[in-house]
Amino acid sequence: MEQPLYDIAIIGLGPAGSTLARLLPDNLKIIAFDKKNDGEDSFKKPCAGMLSHHGQECFAKYGLTLPDDVLVTQLFSAKVIDLKHDSVRNYRRLYINMDRHRFDLWLKSMIPEYVDIHDSVLCRSLVKTDDCYEITVLENHQEIKYRAKYVIGADGAGSMVRKFLFPEHRIKTYMSIQQWFPARAGDPSYSLVFDGDLTDSYAWGLNKNEYYVFGGAYPMKHAREKFEEMKRRLKAYGYEFDNPVKTEACLVLSPSSLKQLCYGRDNCFLIGEAAGFISPSSLEGISYAIESAYKLGELFNRQKQVSVKDYRKAVFSLRLKLAVKMIKRHFIMGAFLRRVIMLSGLGAISMITAKPEKTGKNGKAE
Ligand SMILES: Cc1cc2nc3c(=O)[nH]c(=O)nc-3n(C[C@H](O)[C@H](O)[C@H](O)COP(=O)(O)OP(=O)(O)OC[C@H]3O[C@@H](n4cnc5c(N)ncnc54)[C@H](O)[C@@H]3O)c2cc1C
Repeated sequence: MEQPLYDIAIIGLGPAGSTLARLLPDNLKIIAFDKKNDGEDSFKKPCAGMLSHHGQECFAKYGLTLPDDVLVTQLFSAKVIDLKHDSVRNYRRLYINMDRHRFDLWLKSMIPEYVDIHDSVLCRSLVKTDDCYEITVLENHQEIKYRAKYVIGADGAGSMVRKFLFPEHRIKTYMSIQQWFPARAGDPSYSLVFDGDLTDSYAWGLNKNEYYVFGGAYPMKHAREKFEEMKRRLKAYGYEFDNPVKTEACLVLSPSSLKQLCYGRDNCFLIGEAAGFISPSSLEGISYAIESAYKLGELFNRQKQVSVKDYRKAVFSLRLKLAVKMIKRHFIMGAFLRRVIMLSGLGAISMITAKPEKTGKNGKAE
């Protein structure tokens, strides 16, 4: 069956796609696809669901208020553990701990009715024809083709749009693995874990409602073994990782140069992590996804024709932020500099606890 020609097709309704779908003007004919749905057994994006200071600023700027059921806790500090040097420090950090799936559904719930949403749909391939893009999807067990003048890749780290239209494009990629454990009284507080032998990125542990979640980003080769080894090494620091209820894994990007960002071409735009908009120093991508969507949404509201050149210009501030994060990454992920910073105690806070905290292999704080 011949499908109508849409003005815009959005592929992916995570933070980037849902934000753009909410902002596009109602004079455009818009279709949006996502493989997840609103049900409990839907695909859920593996994510720590932490909204950093930078993310909170972005929410303030765009006047967004998180609903109650998305909030899990508010965190005020982070424990940094350097396994290689057996050192532990606490730092003041303001994070909002969210239920990531509910967060995604909340953003999706704000999409206006004039956007034609197709969820539980897997977009399989994409080709450019003379005058439009043809998207082949798997919907209700059937293969269907949709056509649109503009296509927006908002489909995250493993972007199908990027793969089909920019097969040669490479962005530094890690395998991220997360496990969920039943929460126990006395689970360690929010932790950031470094071990240069296992990964040049990092791992995290935090409470999420009735679970303790431990996850990390590892080089693609032998990622699972490195994850298991990190858990083993953390046992000496009071961590217990027994009986996981869920193990999840997905790709996470960590662009190492601005050249790795992929904005799109012709009438195709990439937003959010699909474009490589994610902090390489903290792997925080939610605020970048939302900001890049706002920038593109503003352009479509202002002008009839939008070019990739316009979009590139509009996201200049995001490029700048990422350039700073790429430099910061060397301080955080570089073993020597991190060691010096942690040894100096610069910016660290002393935790006051009734009972002495077990903070290192020898149970001693630095
Ligand atoms: C384990 C882990 C922990 C993280 N923790 C944090 C954190 O604490 N804070 C933070 O800010 N960032 C975090 N990030 C990064 C953050 O999750 C992403 O950068 C952010 O979600 C990007 O948003 P997005 O909308 O661009 O893409 P995504 O959130 O990945 O959304 C993409 C959407 O596209 C859909 N989709 C994908 N492919 C298809 C297809 N072929 N057909 C149809 N639909 C498709 C998916 O269902 C999904 O809804 C983490 C990442 C990982 C992997």
